[in-house]
Amino acid sequence: MLTNSLQSLDVAHHIHPITNLRRLERQGPIVIDRGQGIYVYDDEGREYIEAMAGLWSVGLGFGEQRLVDAATKQLEKLPYYHVFSQKAHAPSALLAAKLTELAPAGLEHVFFTNSGAEANDSVVKFVWYYNNAIGRPEKKKFLARDGGYHGITVAAGSLTGLQTNQKGFDLPLPFVRHLSRPHFYRAGLPGETEEAFTERLLKELEDTILAEGPETVAAFIGEPVMGAGGVLVPPKGYWAGVQEICRKYDVLVVADEVINGFGRLGTMFGCETLGIEPDILVCSKQITSSYQPLAAVLMKDFIYQAMADASEKLGVFGHGYTTGAHPVSTAVALENLAIIEERDLVARSKELGAYMHAGLAKFADHPHVGEIRGIGLIAAVELVADKATKAKFEPFGKVGLRFFDHAHEHGLIVRGIGDSIAFCPPMIITEAEIDEMLRRFKATLDDITAWIAAGMPD
Ligand code: PLP
Repeated sequence: MLTNSLQSLDVAHHIHPITNLRRLERQGPIVIDRGQGIYVYDDEGREYIEAMAGLWSVGLGFGEQRLVDAATKQLEKLPYYHVFSQKAHAPSALLAAKLTELAPAGLEHVFFTNSGAEANDSVVKFVWYYNNAIGRPEKKKFLARDGGYHGITVAAGSLTGLQTNQKGFDLPLPFVRHLSRPHFYRAGLPGETEEAFTERLLKELEDTILAEGPETVAAFIGEPVMGAGGVLVPPKGYWAGVQEICRKYDVLVVADEVINGFGRLGTMFGCETLGIEPDILVCSKQITSSYQPLAAVLMKDFIYQAMADASEKLGVFGHGYTTGAHPVSTAVALENLAIIEERDLVARSKELGAYMHAGLAKFADHPHVGEIRGIGLIAAVELVADKATKAKFEPFGKVGLRFFDHAHEHGLIVRGIGDSIAFCPPMIITEAEIDEMLRRFKATLDDITAWIAAGMPD
């Protein structure tokens, strides 16, 4: 039922991403009007705790005046300029330098894009360009994982391993091979230990490289902790093994830190938490707390040097976006990173993350809670039909969708991933706010439990 004219206008004219468009037409959107701290308010004044920080992204929460001031100052001084063909401006130069200082060792060069998907599309092109430059034009395939999310443009959408983003779009393109997701709770075999599960996944990786031919496999891409695929923290030894195999066959390691980056896991980058030394790192979202669109691709010197040589040979490095490295976005990012450092939000994310996980652990005995997972300020609670057998609800996803809808009535915005409920609150959240978030979660869970007991009516 559409209750106000803004909703009607939106439904009539605005195509929403990652949405069931017919369901949206029937129900209308919730119109979010303003935000402050961890809260957002709809156009009828209802308050919600934004337990997903928007799309895993508003690290500093809403209403951070210093970011508004940084944007305003830059808009007044130089609202736009590009960085094509030997132009530069201060905010993007300073930000590139800052990112290389914060990033894992050896990532010395930075390319800016507007979005995470564009960044991952750029990675595919950079890896191809690099391999062409060093005389290996056949080394072009990418390895990615089922459940991985890398965006929705044609190449990035091919790296993504979620059918929802591929069905109907003729994706993935054939340059990608998807491997199993590292989710022991769901994919571990009966009686299999976590170590044996990890070994099995690593064997799959090596077997795939050998079957494809190492001379054709260019790169492995993965999120240190998988986000949209269900907040999956890989088992111990997984990433170390992946790296070892990739190095053995000269396969580049690409860390997609679009969600993990800038403190989410309790370290500046997820690579530190998981012990990854990537050749390429992609970041976005919390780089500006999403106050402005921005993403970055960081790479090691040997890749850059080959690309630079090729650009001279070919006459130009023929890749770039009109609004990539936007001065307002990069100025906001610099201020955002300064605030993260000044307020020690990375350490705080670790501390508050432990507090959130202790609070979530209290739900472990609930008859429909199968697994609680995560690290730092990111978590998921997987709801199951049968705790003992881990059986999923039928149809899968109905509970997650209902939970997502119903949470709104309790003033909570979470995300349903299948039947898992994800949390990724702004990193400025306090202990008292975590308590309130979990109180609203419990109220929703109680209602959903009663609805399940009633046979999950439509
Ligand atoms: N990579 C990861 C890990 C993401 O989670 C996302 C978005 O959620 C992307 C890439 C794509 O970013 P964007 O939506 O900015 O294109």
